[in-house]
Amino acid sequence: MAYIQFLGAAGTVTGSKHLINTSFDGDGRGGIQILVDCGMFQGQKPWRERNWQELPIPAKEIDAVILTHAHLDHCGWIPRLVKEGFRGPIYATPATIDLCGVVLPDSGHLQEEDAAFYNKIKKTKHDPALPLYTLAEAQNCLHYFQAVQFGETMQLSPEISFRFVHAAHILGSSMAEVTLNISGQARRMLFTGDIGRVRDANVAPGKVVHSGPQEGETADVLVMESTYGNRQHPKDDPRPALAKAISQTVQRGGSVVVPAFAVERTQKFIFMLKELMEAGQIPKVPVFCDSPMAIKAVEIFLKHTEEYSDETKRLIGQYGSPLTWPGFSFASTAQDSKKINDAHYPCIIISSSGMVTGGRILHHLALRLPEPKNTVIFIGFQAPGTRGFTIKGGAPEVKIFGDIVPIRAQITALEQFSDHADPPELLEWLRTFKNKPAVTYLVHGEPSASSQLRDLMTKELGWNVQVAQWLQKAEVN
Ligand SMILES: [Zn+2]
Repeated sequence: MAYIQFLGAAGTVTGSKHLINTSFDGDGRGGIQILVDCGMFQGQKPWRERNWQELPIPAKEIDAVILTHAHLDHCGWIPRLVKEGFRGPIYATPATIDLCGVVLPDSGHLQEEDAAFYNKIKKTKHDPALPLYTLAEAQNCLHYFQAVQFGETMQLSPEISFRFVHAAHILGSSMAEVTLNISGQARRMLFTGDIGRVRDANVAPGKVVHSGPQEGETADVLVMESTYGNRQHPKDDPRPALAKAISQTVQRGGSVVVPAFAVERTQKFIFMLKELMEAGQIPKVPVFCDSPMAIKAVEIFLKHTEEYSDETKRLIGQYGSPLTWPGFSFASTAQDSKKINDAHYPCIIISSSGMVTGGRILHHLALRLPEPKNTVIFIGFQAPGTRGFTIKGGAPEVKIFGDIVPIRAQITALEQFSDHADPPELLEWLRTFKNKPAVTYLVHGEPSASSQLRDLMTKELGWNVQVAQWLQKAEVN
């Protein structure tokens, strides 16, 4: 019996990995095995420890990976999969491949840095602490990527094919429509990956991708994300609140620190800063985009014009490449990054990782969190267990580099920047489906978010909806 097994993002928002086994002989052999997404677990320790566990099937027995998008919680375990023996193709859209080309080596670099740090301070139970994978191993896995255009059908074996359709979540993001032929009958599985905001630029200002998720889908089995299953995004324009927070911080001589995913979210945000500056709504203070991939990230962003919203097209037409803007600096080297610490004048620092789980944002926050004059602005989702979640939640202190850092800076969060659809938007999208899926499995959500979305979908749509459990095998028949 063909089945889907949930190897991650079940009961949590990270570690997305869904195995499709097309075997018809009941023992899991004989068919082919495809992994949809191969993400890293992040957040609380019990989850992160799963990154070190072996998969229920050997990596070398997996035939292919279908990757929906380039966020680490969807792609960050790929280098480990290859390290463990996977040698098949990794299918992704061209923009996703470009993004993985910077995101995965950066992740390997961070893994190595973390291991070296823990070995240095000896604050580890593991002796020596090891990286999950290295920079070189992350670079090596890039050879296995194969580009698949949106709408192109890829036949993986006589019984299974797939195609990517737009998810409108981030640059290059896709949903995977997987078609399985069982005894002459086609079964459609739709894996949503992460679902972006619906077709209405007004509710998601600064949105890069244009058209909302692909409408009019059909699915027998729907595997759907539920990150925002229990919360609605504010519908107001975030710009006035952003301008106010920045202006007030600058007035008291402080700096603004923004944790943000280095690719796309950062670019989207700096275009907004540029516009506010040009309109005279915030002072023209220096802006530092601090990431080892800062310059490359801008180049990838500017390359993939096919995905832009009208607003993004207009902004790029008007202001050109951020790399040429006066007052905006892109720190690529560690030295450039450390120099930002010397900036005792008001400035805006945008750095990753977006959930403060690692990266250069750590040293910026360690330096600037203790000062009440500074402000930290969150513009992205913070998973429970991450430092970002702790800081955003109003904790008095946070542990960074093994030290306790007091939190005295102002903390602000703007939820409008979300790249995930909220429940009303999800219902709007689901109502465009041409059929009622036989079953929907909700993944990629905290338990309360997934169960509330399940109840809402059952009530509003009358669909058969279940919350996926970790390692559960769901039959496809
Ligand atoms: Zn995502």
